[in-house]
Amino acid sequence: MSKNVLRGYGKIAAAGTGVGALAGAAFAGQRRWLVESDVPRAIPVETDPLSEIPAETDVVVVGAGIAGISTALYLNQFGLRTVVFEKGFVGGEASSRNFGWVYTNALHQDKLPLAVLAKDIWMGFADRFGFDVGVRQDGNLHLAENEEELAVQAAWQREATQRFPGAIDARILGRDGLEDLIPGVGRQFIGALHQPSDGSAEPTHAVPLITKGARKEGVKVFAPVAVRGIETVGGAIHSVVTELGEVRTTRVVVAGGAWSRLFLGNLGVDLPQQGIASSLMRVKGGTAFRGSGFGGGAAWREQADGTCAIGVSMHGVPVTLDSFRVLPHFLPALKIALRNPSERFLSVQVGGDLLASLRTKRTWRNDEVTEFERVRMLTARPMVKAGDQGLAAVQELFPAMRDAEVVERWAGIIDATPDYTSVVSEVPAVPGLFVNTGHGAQGYSLGPGAGRLAAEMIAEQPTSVDADMFRFGRFTDGSTLQLREFI
Ligand SMILES: Cc1cc2nc3c(=O)[nH]c(=O)nc-3n(C[C@H](O)[C@H](O)[C@H](O)COP(=O)(O)OP(=O)(O)OC[C@H]3O[C@@H](n4cnc5c(N)ncnc54)[C@H](O)[C@@H]3O)c2cc1C
Repeated sequence: MSKNVLRGYGKIAAAGTGVGALAGAAFAGQRRWLVESDVPRAIPVETDPLSEIPAETDVVVVGAGIAGISTALYLNQFGLRTVVFEKGFVGGEASSRNFGWVYTNALHQDKLPLAVLAKDIWMGFADRFGFDVGVRQDGNLHLAENEEELAVQAAWQREATQRFPGAIDARILGRDGLEDLIPGVGRQFIGALHQPSDGSAEPTHAVPLITKGARKEGVKVFAPVAVRGIETVGGAIHSVVTELGEVRTTRVVVAGGAWSRLFLGNLGVDLPQQGIASSLMRVKGGTAFRGSGFGGGAAWREQADGTCAIGVSMHGVPVTLDSFRVLPHFLPALKIALRNPSERFLSVQVGGDLLASLRTKRTWRNDEVTEFERVRMLTARPMVKAGDQGLAAVQELFPAMRDAEVVERWAGIIDATPDYTSVVSEVPAVPGLFVNTGHGAQGYSLGPGAGRLAAEMIAEQPTSVDADMFRFGRFTDGSTLQLREFI
């Protein structure tokens, strides 16, 4: 990207900020899509006594979601003293509010090395810790409605199984094979891409249980403790400042999920990130299919308790002041979404969130109370109407679900980057500052792999996968961003 284009984008962003402020005034009093909550879905887990926060450590990890805890697990394995601070509840944000898919099926080919690594780690947790973290290998299915879709799936399957023999066991099913798997499945489906070794992990349980395992191995986890910021001396990291005091360290990993942009912004680091509000619900009274899958506008996952989680294909974009600032980065993705009608699943919400964002401090001193202490857990308001449509779609596909009733609705925030690719990287401008964030709708599955990768970078170990596509510098060094989602 040329400097002129970047400058042009800068002007759009600046103008956008002004428009945002005006729009914020106009939408005062509107309902918010983002929800500040103190009721976690994640099960409680013991953390370390706050009186034992050390004065000094090798690495501090900001955030105890799947990315942060996994990073800490491997840092500790590599011999680095590691402290995790979580401002709210361990696993309380996206990591306990997601669908629970642990998978490689139909992922973009570029993402497969990390996804394969991550799946392998997920499946090994029980052996590593000596207890189950709630992972099951019960298969993932992508349904095909026509020959064209099936051909795309077959091409993906050929390439992926050749590249990862043994690790990826995807197969193409015809109508008969599909019938065997889901008797009575909707007639519109002519086949499917099925991967038996994919599976899921219960989002309410997995991160708390991985945290239990990580603490057993020596990781220190403190919650609720918000990290306010980082102190530098001569450009190098000197310490982190938490709401309970300062901890000396030279290396910090920001694994703050949807908060990473705000946290980094105070250090002058501009991470393009946009939150997407995404809804789910749980139904009882029928079983769609063992495992998880997607097709015909429906997505599902059978839960450990026999109920079924159902996805909602409409997602909300809560517009905040930052949305205007990052808009130039997201234009290519937006253009593709608008060109392809099947991708029009975003509902842009301009309202109370914009107003609330105008009140949020973007820069602060580390002796001030910050937004991280004010909002212990950020979630989203579930979309009820779109949810009901999602259930209707599932009921059409699976007659066995006809009498299913909704027993729970919830939502969470997907933290998306403009190229729908994670950022696992050192920040070029601040030596010792690493990020492990921006995992989009795949970060639960990728999390353990991304954690291992980040830890390898920090411990200066050879990396398990090529980390180039995850580098932070792609947003600033003139690279053309390559959008990566599914096949
Ligand atoms: C509805 C929905 C469905 C999804 N389905 C799937 C799926 O099926 N499979 C999949 O792979 N992915 C899925 N995802 C995506 C996945 O949930 C996320 O990518 C993943 O959980 C991100 O993990 P994280 O650790 O980066 O962030 P989070 O889990 O959000 O954790 C970040 C943590 O950092 C803490 N924090 C932030 N700032 C500070 C601070 N200053 N001090 C201390 N703590 C701080 C926060 O409180 C939070 O607990 C889904 C997401 C949603 C919302």
